[in-house]
Amino acid sequence: MSRVYNFCSGPAALPEAVLKKAQAELLDWHGAGVSVMEMSHRSTEFMSILASAKARLKRLLEIGDDYEILFVQGGASTLFAQIPANLANGYDSACYLDTGAWSTKAINEAKKYTNVKVVGSSKADNYTYVPKWSDVALDESAAYLHLCPNETIGGLEFSDLPETDLPIVADLSSTILSRKIDVSKYGVIYAGAQKNVGPAGIVICIIRKDLLARCDDSLPTIWNFANLAKHDSMVNTPPTFAIYLADLVFEWLEEQGGVAAMEAINQAKAKALYDFIDQSAFYANPIAPENRSRMNVPFTLADESLEATFLAESEAAGLRTLAGHRSVGGMRASIYNAMPMEGVQALIDFMKAFEKRYG
Ligand code: PLP
Repeated sequence: MSRVYNFCSGPAALPEAVLKKAQAELLDWHGAGVSVMEMSHRSTEFMSILASAKARLKRLLEIGDDYEILFVQGGASTLFAQIPANLANGYDSACYLDTGAWSTKAINEAKKYTNVKVVGSSKADNYTYVPKWSDVALDESAAYLHLCPNETIGGLEFSDLPETDLPIVADLSSTILSRKIDVSKYGVIYAGAQKNVGPAGIVICIIRKDLLARCDDSLPTIWNFANLAKHDSMVNTPPTFAIYLADLVFEWLEEQGGVAAMEAINQAKAKALYDFIDQSAFYANPIAPENRSRMNVPFTLADESLEATFLAESEAAGLRTLAGHRSVGGMRASIYNAMPMEGVQALIDFMKAFEKRYG
């Protein structure tokens, strides 16, 4: 079977070149006579893969020496709990900005550990925009400020940060490595791997070293960020194959010209799709144009009764997983780094033809 254009929000499409390389190395990694899945995580071979993944990520995101890079087991949802458990220790509260479903999940989990101050929310307007920092009052005595700069379900994205001395903790699960960021502006960046990094099972966590002093001994051993840093993310057996795949994705990104080159492509892809949606009366996107996500593009059809037909016909045309999240319905095209412009163009061509047939 030939590969199709996969618009899944996660686990998402991986670059074909990465999958081919992994396939070629599957039975015998670099002459070791075993696959990466079969070697000890303490072997020199795997240690070299881990070191390579960290070094490449450091280069790609220009991460300073004052940050630790951790590969944490689990998903970004694991971090929703680990962040307050590690960082709110000794503080009365933590500030959270509420821009959609994933911020809300992070807020609900944090409430189990600390007092959550929701400093801004666009919930009343169905999360169709991102609150302006000038309208947000931060509590400078809080432990940190948590943001979700790309809401994967709602399709909102923002990159401007407030002026504050609070450590900014950002869930970049669906935007990491898709655009340039200034890591030095953040206390913690975390991102589940299964969108722009690799397979599910690991979370990248980039944490400013001074914050590790907050991680208390009462934390479970494998949850303690300071402990993870001390043991180079290997307090116990890490998901070795996921880390190996992440290293291959980082290598591919470097070959593409790095994050700046990806950002230019991502901008062009998102512009083409939003421009097409905006000029059509048949399709619509509800998000304020300045807050629209470059990675996740939700859209609706003027006639909702055509949704099932749209999904069946798009799937048959080799455009996979265009259904919106089950909580919101409609359609959603996730166009992460691995989605080429040709895939976006194929989607636009399909949407045009569909509109002609049914509009
Ligand atoms: N945060 C964001 C922005 C996400 O998009 C997701 C998943 O799609 C999560 C958190 C949760 O990730 P996981 O399922 O890996 O826990």
